[in-house]
Amino acid sequence: MAANTSVAFELPPLPSYTLTPRPPLVDGIPDNILALILPIIAYWAVSLFFHYIDVNDLFSQYRLHTPAEVLARNRVSRWDVVRDVVLQQIIQTVAGLVMAYFDTEEYLGKEEYDVAVWARRIRILQRALPHLVALFGLNASGLASNLSQNGYKTLAGAVAGGRYPDITQSIILENGAETLAPAFASWELALANFIYWYFVPALQLILGICIVDTWQYFLHRAMHLNRWLYVRFHSRHHRLYVPYAFGALYNHPVEGFLLDTAGTGVAFLISGMTHRQGMCFFTFSTIKTVDDHCGYSFPWDPLQHVTSNNAAYHDIHHQSWGIKTNFSQPFFIFWDRLFDTQWKGDVKLRYERSREVAQKQIDEGTALGPDPHADDSFYSTSNLDMAVVSPEAPAEINARTRLRRKTATLSPSVDSLKGVNHGVTSSVL
Ligand SMILES: [Zn+2]
Ligand SMILES: [Zn+2]
Repeated sequence: MAANTSVAFELPPLPSYTLTPRPPLVDGIPDNILALILPIIAYWAVSLFFHYIDVNDLFSQYRLHTPAEVLARNRVSRWDVVRDVVLQQIIQTVAGLVMAYFDTEEYLGKEEYDVAVWARRIRILQRALPHLVALFGLNASGLASNLSQNGYKTLAGAVAGGRYPDITQSIILENGAETLAPAFASWELALANFIYWYFVPALQLILGICIVDTWQYFLHRAMHLNRWLYVRFHSRHHRLYVPYAFGALYNHPVEGFLLDTAGTGVAFLISGMTHRQGMCFFTFSTIKTVDDHCGYSFPWDPLQHVTSNNAAYHDIHHQSWGIKTNFSQPFFIFWDRLFDTQWKGDVKLRYERSREVAQKQIDEGTALGPDPHADDSFYSTSNLDMAVVSPEAPAEINARTRLRRKTATLSPSVDSLKGVNHGVTSSVL
């Protein structure tokens, strides 16, 4: 068929596309529902892993706190923590289901078109190159023909402002006629593919992370600046002076909704993620926050080394002496740095003192243990976390007796709970 040369194309034409609904990742479960389920599975799976390590006292050299501290200093029982976390996850799921109700269906089929749109943008940007070359006193068309004669045709096309007369494609017009049209250079398509499949999703993830960090920093800090907010809501999370993995989402339900559910939800919406991106983002955020409360400073845990915000960093915020610092969570610490709220100074002696006091309390049977009514514990507590005295539940007394035996077996002297045996590396403390 003869080419219809009367049709002129300034840019390579965009491909047509047909949309089809995106099949779910797991049969029978829509992706936006799976995005609600996976973070909960991840929360308990990662928590169980750390819990197993904790109760079997494995890797004790990497513990931030001793088992004695867990019992003596925490003001809430593990079962109460489980109950409140489950409640928060129910609220989170209901909120997610409400959002899912308004979700629009996602489709496949437009990817090639979208990549071509990026390739067009790249082509258009090349039009600036002759002017840039001119800034250096060079003649773009002369340079392009030189490059072309030496075999650098692609480079010549770019320098000439995105002109590739040799790169064409045959297309069928709407009236059925076949014609020649410009096509994209392979490097333009490769770059466009990279932007579409990797660069933009990475930017969305970074934006989501920045939104969550910003949301949580200011809300978290407000919870500490305002007495009513602290006593009414946030003090519950601070009943854990010695955080452990599944205590990560131990919050007042209102705080849990505002800080975690709404924070990540807003980040997801603003960054324009797909359901599958949301799945990864929600699950990753959940694992990170569990890791930040795991109670261990592991040298082999990548999540503890990617940023400065890790279990050791957040643990300082859970101490009565560090509670007004290290508000940043869960990813980066730039807000703490910017507003000078980062803990400064050595903490080794403070940690050792806490270990000794807790061990002494366990040995003497004077530890306070869980106090479900200590909502204002931060405002009434001393540096040794011991202000509020409450009747002890028999189960907790038994637990402490068991621990006393266990601790005595494992560690014959108080000294063995100090320093490197149960401490963290000196670079952390
Ligand atoms: Zn706090
Ligand atoms: Zn915390």
